[in-house]
Amino acid sequence: MGPSIGVPAETASEERRVALTPAVAERLIEEIDASVHVESGAGRHAHHTDEDYEAHGAQITSRDEVLQADVVAVVQALPKQDRNRLSDNQVVIGFLSPLDDPEIAHHLAEQGVTALAMELVPRISRAQKMDALSAMGSLGGYRAVLRAAHELPRFFPLLTTAAGTIEPANVLVMGAGVAGLQAIATAKRLGARVAGYDIRPAVKEEVESLGAGFVELQLETDDAETEEGYAEELQEEIQERQPELLQPYIAASDVVVTTALIPGRPAPMLIREEAVEEMAPGSVIVDLAAPNGGNCALTNPGATITAHDVQIMGPLNLPAEMPEHASQLYARTMAAMVEEFVEEGRFTANFDDDIFAGTCVTHEGAIVNDRIKSLV
Ligand code: NAD
Repeated sequence: MGPSIGVPAETASEERRVALTPAVAERLIEEIDASVHVESGAGRHAHHTDEDYEAHGAQITSRDEVLQADVVAVVQALPKQDRNRLSDNQVVIGFLSPLDDPEIAHHLAEQGVTALAMELVPRISRAQKMDALSAMGSLGGYRAVLRAAHELPRFFPLLTTAAGTIEPANVLVMGAGVAGLQAIATAKRLGARVAGYDIRPAVKEEVESLGAGFVELQLETDDAETEEGYAEELQEEIQERQPELLQPYIAASDVVVTTALIPGRPAPMLIREEAVEEMAPGSVIVDLAAPNGGNCALTNPGATITAHDVQIMGPLNLPAEMPEHASQLYARTMAAMVEEFVEEGRFTANFDDDIFAGTCVTHEGAIVNDRIKSLV
């Protein structure tokens, strides 16, 4: 007999995802002989009924029972009153916001729970199948472009009509990681003229392979010195002067999607108010870095504002707007995580394993992650 896995309904407002879908619950029942206990209604917003779960072998039950499972699988951290009911033989896995909200980690440690944070899955190839952040990044990048296209008072594609020709929209995507590359691909498919920018010059090729241009920021220099270290200095200066150097590219864009992040740090400021002011009236900025403060100086995280006749959106949870596929992808990363650490029917802590050691936030009454320890 494998572990029991509990799936509570999510309680955060606007959260529409569910940690396990019926198909993934069935996979865990088959692969590791798990019993899956799902709170009635937990899959409702992702369009999975209680009957769907039962048809795939899961049991529908009360929140009380779900919270007693060996492994509690969540999308977002459980609220305090639920955490109070957990005890030391239990494992909790999900986006636990350990860096943004270290109090949650502190509380989970007090409860004696073994907590694994999906945000902390290391970027190594063996962990790719557990990389929930990347899976959600793609959804966010896609959705951000659709939102922008919907709000923009102009077409994305080039149109030739009897009433004349319409030029394609200019879309600039800043930060060409997982979300940014998906945003570029989506904007291209909609027919826009797309440019990508990233502080890592190595992504130029990836951006160009999607048919977009790559913005390379240059400093005006008098001589072409090639001394050792000079290139690095130049790069540092570019980084410092990014907002100013990016301004003409922003001004020429109808849509700017920003995704620039440095994990665990406030998002870098790339769009100054002066740059917004220079954009054509009606233009749209979608700031995917909003949860970390935003890449635009005017972003109001969680809200859409209009400034200088430009709409600036600061969405906090775009994947939840596509709950079916977001849940499907998330559930697969969750299942991969559970399967990886179940040995002889039990979920087993293994600090010799890079993935376990990297993701584990609390174990046996203590915060075990150094970074989070320093924040508490
Ligand atoms: P992220 O969300 O942390 O950052 C998004 C992008 O913003 C990154 O490309 C980053 O370089 C860029 N950025 C940061 N500061 C910037 C600034 N000041 N100006 C412009 N851009 C800035 O990163 P991500 O999207 O999660 O992933 C980044 C990279 O890691 C990607 O290339 C991805 O393919 C790779 N990755 C590898 C693995 C793995 O090997 N398992 C897993 C996930 C991602």
